[in-house]
Amino acid sequence: MAVYAPGRDASRLAYYGLFALQHRGQESAGIAAWDGRSVNVKKSPGLVSQVFSEADIEGLAGGLAIGHNRYSTTGSSNARNAQPFLIDSRHGPIALAHNGNIVNAGDIRRRLLDRGVGLTSASDTELMIMDLAGRGEDDWVSRIRAAMNSWVGAFSFVTLTPEGIFAARDSWGLRPLAYGVTAEKAFVIASETCALATLGCREIHEIAAGQIVSCDAEGRVSVTGPGEGAAPRKHASCVFEFVYFSRPDSVWNGHSVHEVRRRFGEELARRSPAEADLVIPVPDSSISAAIGYSGASGVPYGEAFVKNRYIGRTFIEPTTALRKRGVSLKFNVLHDSVKGKRIVVIDDSIVRGNTIRPLVALLKNAGAKEVHVRVASPPVRHPCMMGVDMGQRSELVANVMPVADMAKWSGADSLAYLSLESVGRALGGIDDYCAACFSGDYPFDVEMAEAKERFEF
Ligand code: SF4
Repeated sequence: MAVYAPGRDASRLAYYGLFALQHRGQESAGIAAWDGRSVNVKKSPGLVSQVFSEADIEGLAGGLAIGHNRYSTTGSSNARNAQPFLIDSRHGPIALAHNGNIVNAGDIRRRLLDRGVGLTSASDTELMIMDLAGRGEDDWVSRIRAAMNSWVGAFSFVTLTPEGIFAARDSWGLRPLAYGVTAEKAFVIASETCALATLGCREIHEIAAGQIVSCDAEGRVSVTGPGEGAAPRKHASCVFEFVYFSRPDSVWNGHSVHEVRRRFGEELARRSPAEADLVIPVPDSSISAAIGYSGASGVPYGEAFVKNRYIGRTFIEPTTALRKRGVSLKFNVLHDSVKGKRIVVIDDSIVRGNTIRPLVALLKNAGAKEVHVRVASPPVRHPCMMGVDMGQRSELVANVMPVADMAKWSGADSLAYLSLESVGRALGGIDDYCAACFSGDYPFDVEMAEAKERFEF
């Protein structure tokens, strides 16, 4: 995220905003701020609440700041890959924070090394900042546009320079990015609109695919018009933001995430009904779909899993061992709510399959008579190269066994997925979306994509 806050410490607003974006990454957090003389940065592994003390925020003085929560899709989750990256350059200091994954990182890396640029991390974010720093165009918008036209992949990013903050979204529109203005006239850019709402922004706009937005040190905002941003591409916004990643109170591509998830649940109820007494969600990302399933099926909605919310989201923890331990530490069951009942449990997705089996076992052990699993997305069969760490093809459980065998494998009495056609109906059309993890139809050639650990030192 990025903040311009005249006469106040922008870092404090960035800090609050990062709390609202904690679900997008829990490995490391960082803030860089321009105090009028230099850019200062504080970043380290951990949650936002663990990384920053009050003294840290006070030390990040100045009216311009950017911040980041990291979730590794390229490079390991060590401190060296924490963001924002900060370098000095012939254009002055630059800090950069990035959400997404550059697919042609290998090409960019070789180009930079050939130019004599030294690299210190495994992160594609370092490639982006080094590429920008070496560009000779006259102004930042021109440099950013030229760099964007050479990058392939998902990149919603913010940069901080003495001249202001700049933000842009790749021309495919893969990852979200939005901006807004608070009542106190602070200008804020964030990965999700929920963070803008948290900071009290009144006017909220999603940044368009390929668009470049800037706010200079005097607070003058400019937004590139049609044809002024990066070269246009076929739109391919990430459907998985609706399925799992975004918070339900965010708006993504003009749609309320909660409403879309609710419609996923309605579609699921129509196509895959179950004779049941209770519909329950796997909290939190399945709540909206469970409400939709209940509404369309007439089966009452209830809560049966109690989640320890102080443990991170299992899907975005970096190793399978951590994910598995996370499930058992995270959920308990309300026995009285499920005992003797036929339960429909709604899960937003099944990726590696680490979560659903222990959850079904918990329900059965609590006395549930039947458990019917309904998944509010299609089977995930293809890895994501654009910023969601789904692992290798062989790790995806839908590739390991036929869907018909998954009920038995999970311990459930039945198991059904939402179809891609239903996803399209819920969205009013899927042509402008990437659904490659379900369909294998990637928005560009991903043969050049680098494996996550490729650049490990
Ligand atoms: S492959 Fe899946 S997770 Fe990755 S960008 Fe496409 S829809 Fe999103």
